[in-house]
Amino acid sequence: MAPARDIPKHYDFAEVEARWQRTWRDEEHHFDRRSPKPRYVIDTPPPYPTGNFHIGNALNWCYIDFIARYKRMQGYNVMFPQGWDCHGLPTEVKVEEIHGITKNDVSREEFRRMCRELTEKNIGLMRTTLRRLGFSIDWSNEYITMLPSYFGKTQKSFLRMFHDGYIYQAEHPVNFCIRCETAIAFAEVTYQERETTLTTFLFDGVEIATTRPELLAACVAVAVHPEDERFSRLHGKELTVPFFGQRVPVLQDPVVDPTFGTGAVMICTFGDKQDVHWWKEYNLPLRKAIDRRGRMTAIAGKYEGMVIGEARKAIVADMASAGILRGEKRITQRVGTCWRCKTPIEILSERQWFIKVKHDEILKAAREVTWIPEHMRTRLENWVAQMEWDWCISRQRIFATPIPVWFCDACGEMVLPTPEEIPVDPTLTRPKAPCPKCGGTRFTPEEDVLDTWMDSSISVLHVTGWDGKGAPPLFPAQLRPQGHDIIRTWACYTILRSVALTGGKPWDSILVNGMVLGEDGFKMSKSRGNIIQPEEIVVKHGADAFRQWSASGAATGSDIMFNWNDVVAASRLQTKLWNIVRFILPKIGDRACTVEMVTAPADRWLLDRLSGTVAAVTAAMDAYAFDQALKALREFAWDILADEYIELVKGRLYSEGEGRESAAAALSITLDALLRMLAPFLPHFAEECYHQLKGRSVHREAWPRFEYRDAAAREQGDLLVRIVSGLRTWKHDHGMALNAPLGRLTVYTKVPLEDGGDAARALNATVSWRAEEPRLEKRAADVKFNMGVIGPAFKGRAREFMDAVRKLPPESLENPPATILLGGEEVPIPPGAFSPAFTYAIGGKDVEVVTVGDVIVSVERGS
Ligand SMILES: [Zn+2]
Ligand SMILES: [Zn+2]
Repeated sequence: MAPARDIPKHYDFAEVEARWQRTWRDEEHHFDRRSPKPRYVIDTPPPYPTGNFHIGNALNWCYIDFIARYKRMQGYNVMFPQGWDCHGLPTEVKVEEIHGITKNDVSREEFRRMCRELTEKNIGLMRTTLRRLGFSIDWSNEYITMLPSYFGKTQKSFLRMFHDGYIYQAEHPVNFCIRCETAIAFAEVTYQERETTLTTFLFDGVEIATTRPELLAACVAVAVHPEDERFSRLHGKELTVPFFGQRVPVLQDPVVDPTFGTGAVMICTFGDKQDVHWWKEYNLPLRKAIDRRGRMTAIAGKYEGMVIGEARKAIVADMASAGILRGEKRITQRVGTCWRCKTPIEILSERQWFIKVKHDEILKAAREVTWIPEHMRTRLENWVAQMEWDWCISRQRIFATPIPVWFCDACGEMVLPTPEEIPVDPTLTRPKAPCPKCGGTRFTPEEDVLDTWMDSSISVLHVTGWDGKGAPPLFPAQLRPQGHDIIRTWACYTILRSVALTGGKPWDSILVNGMVLGEDGFKMSKSRGNIIQPEEIVVKHGADAFRQWSASGAATGSDIMFNWNDVVAASRLQTKLWNIVRFILPKIGDRACTVEMVTAPADRWLLDRLSGTVAAVTAAMDAYAFDQALKALREFAWDILADEYIELVKGRLYSEGEGRESAAAALSITLDALLRMLAPFLPHFAEECYHQLKGRSVHREAWPRFEYRDAAAREQGDLLVRIVSGLRTWKHDHGMALNAPLGRLTVYTKVPLEDGGDAARALNATVSWRAEEPRLEKRAADVKFNMGVIGPAFKGRAREFMDAVRKLPPESLENPPATILLGGEEVPIPPGAFSPAFTYAIGGKDVEVVTVGDVIVSVERGS
């Protein structure tokens, strides 16, 4: 196909982007399992199908797409899969809202069906956004975690880790969200500063301060610091708990802070993590005062059935009437809350399923992965170092992967399915064989389900082809891209699971992206009203402008503040590039161009600069420094190509002959390479232009490998563009039109310079080059005084000073002495008091002189 030449004046991003999105075919992005090319597998994050692909997701996907497209051009067989992490509470809550029900109003199966239906609809919405942003996703490798084809693998991984001793069931204190009515893992607890009341009361004669008076029923001990003399009389004693009457020991423990409250604390099961430590250390009894729904239990006596807040009020009121209340004050406290609903978590002792956290295994594998940026590894290491409890993986919810376990009714034996029976929902089917221990045939299914992270932490195993055994064929993946907010969950759990299931690290590298902040610098949130949707930006400025904003907003890993001006600047670059392309294309025609055709010094200079740009952009892409890559491309296109080079050679392009051929070849080679380098960032724009240039898709081209070194051309070209641009500025400053005739120029340089007539054409002047010192006759014509300096320094003697300066010899005007004689007195000359103004002549003829760096240009204006 011959390149078209009917290039519209304006770049219509909406029309162009829609047209290419209709033209491109999904197959072009499919991973080819039989390809001999080196593979590049990306462990794309599976987003939660909320129906809204938010700007933070979009930023991350831009990074992934830049890499995927770049690696394809570098000759890799790339897999850019798309997953959907479906299970979890937000969908359950949404379904309850939509249908006006609670999960208990319908059967578990019906509730799951409703969740699946909503999820499918939301995935559809998000797919549309992904396509609109021009991401080169491999849709043949899409996965949906709620489907049996995926959650069966989650169950297989459960069986395997159970048999290998990683998974166990136990009663243990766990973090529990009483609103979500489920256990959660420590990684899902977020800490917030909250105001609370510190209540001081008399505890069997001892003043104790607590923020949880409602836990009095669960009190199992009182603790004081061993060296706190206020309490030495209590050593070895027991106390009686007010209202509830249980006898509790007084413990001496150095962890107690004598300066907090009254210095004596009550230990309850459980007020916080410290209580759990003491409970284990001193082998204290367990008293459960709060149930899974946040209501007081039977041991709370008259408070039974009250919710936590009610019980607190009632107990404090009873303390007041019993005369043991000593005071209440407001304090701020760090409270652990549920990451999804922000309800303060309770620590409840529950029968749950756990995965053993083997710190050394995780840290060893994490060290074998390349972290970009490097300091993100420290975040993981810090988190792992403080993981004290094993990972609680059971949840008391419905829309999730079922735990594949039954219990024998007769003997209590735990019965697991064989890998062939999976996927399975134990609440719907029964084991195929009788109980292996007692032969019983009646079973109770495990109703708990798995933590959603159990699904998503095997995404890398899934995309690399895991079949439930050993290391998958494409394992490890080459790249995991993800946000820094889920290092302690998704990254940490993936490493843990990969080591447990394959013995190795999950990926070669992990690329951590920052968050997108609102225009006000705060995290985007509904309550702040600072949310920007990617669709909004795409409608106004196009997908390519959004992608450019993503690339240039900040260094990879840093948070980015959204700013409309940056998007506008991005679309301006597209307009500039479009104008460049529109100018160049008709000049270069359809000719095949080779480097040998480029002969003129300025053209060789352009190729040398292009070569440097290719090297810089390639290095930046290899380092995932997308902001650097795009900056180098922008500077090259805008400054070097458009403002410097094209302005310099325009005249030659309109002429005939060898010089024209040389410039056209240089432009053709340059545009080809430039568009290929822009293709990962601006896939639609680059495609449109490349079709104009070559009549084929830029996305099937190789990444440019262009090496061209010409030191002499580089040096001369740099000088030439400086001189021409200096003189153009001078023309402008002297009120001349840029194309007005300038007369005769003589340029005095240190080295000989040959420009093939470019400067003369660009400046509309006759130009002579002289590699010699100018024989200028210099005359000091006048002195310019700076009254701002002279006035304050000399006051009444200013005139006298100026007269004295005018009498100085010309060389002293240029390099002033330190002092000057005023009426026989030596007076210092303040710096900046005056500067000389010179006129010049050559051979007695007056000329104007322009200096550009150390180059002197004499101008004899046209006569
Ligand atoms: Zn919650
Ligand atoms: Zn049995």
